Amino acid sequence: MDLHTHSCASDGELSPEKLVELAAKNAVTLMALTDHDTMLGTPAAMRAAAAHGIRMVTGVEITCEWGRRNIHVVGLNLDPVADGLADFLAGICRMRDERGHRMDEAFARLGIKGAYEGALAHTRNPMNLSRTHFAKWLFESGHVETYQQAFDRYLANGRPCAIRADWPHLTTVVDRIRAAGGVAVLAHPGRYTFEASWMNDELLKAFKAAGGAAIEVASGSQSEAANAHYAEAARRLGFLASTGSDFHSFSGCRPQPGRQPQVPAGLTGVWTLF
Ligand code: AMP
Ligand code: MN
Ligand code: MN
Ligand code: MN
Repeated sequence: MDLHTHSCASDGELSPEKLVELAAKNAVTLMALTDHDTMLGTPAAMRAAAAHGIRMVTGVEITCEWGRRNIHVVGLNLDPVADGLADFLAGICRMRDERGHRMDEAFARLGIKGAYEGALAHTRNPMNLSRTHFAKWLFESGHVETYQQAFDRYLANGRPCAIRADWPHLTTVVDRIRAAGGVAVLAHPGRYTFEASWMNDELLKAFKAAGGAAIEVASGSQSEAANAHYAEAARRLGFLASTGSDFHSFSGCRPQPGRQPQVPAGLTGVWTLF
């Protein structure tokens, strides 16, 4: 099972078809494609899943804001043509593009020219410009020695070219997912760092109050300790459990589709809803 994956419709490396093929090779039987703020890859992923005998539920990973932090909420099993959903996602993607121009200006002030065009050339979906694409361009054009250095020097939160965008609020995003008939899942809760650790618990409570139903307790993009901590939190707070690799590319540090830790016994899976 893998309910969190990316394709080149956002900042993943593989086409939806190749991603599904890889999942099939890894014996995944239930999966979701959860690109950042877009469902452009959904039709191709659905067709490929049918061809490989994989059960595919629709998905998206929406960027939002809570507690002055970027939070990722995965929507699963939502209707891609639900009223207003495509426009809502397109609005976020436009904001990504506008942020890209402001990042370009920030790079130019540091003497680095052509960042927007460079990043855009690394996208496969030009309407889904990500910091990942800027990092790839910085690395391949020799402005940094490693891909990670692009984040450490320029792009990580708090660094000079990490321009803030006006992401929708957490509650808006949960509402949108539910209005489209979907279930809202808090992605990789172990990856949000607040000034005070009690804020992490507050986030879970705010997510629950907003109508969030599940949290990722077995994710390829958080530590084993975080997985154990949030499995316990799911029990304590009555969340359903979700799991996903958060696979982006072979060169990334995330496990391949389906190779993430799986949900521990004693929790109810979010997949029981679909
Ligand atoms: P965006 O949604 O465009 O703001 O970009 C987020 C992407 O950048 C995600 O795929 C993250 O994995 C990646 N990212 C964010 N912060 C870092 C960091 N400090 N180091 C490496 N990758 C990061
Ligand atoms: Mn990503
Ligand atoms: Mn994420
Ligand atoms: Mn993700």
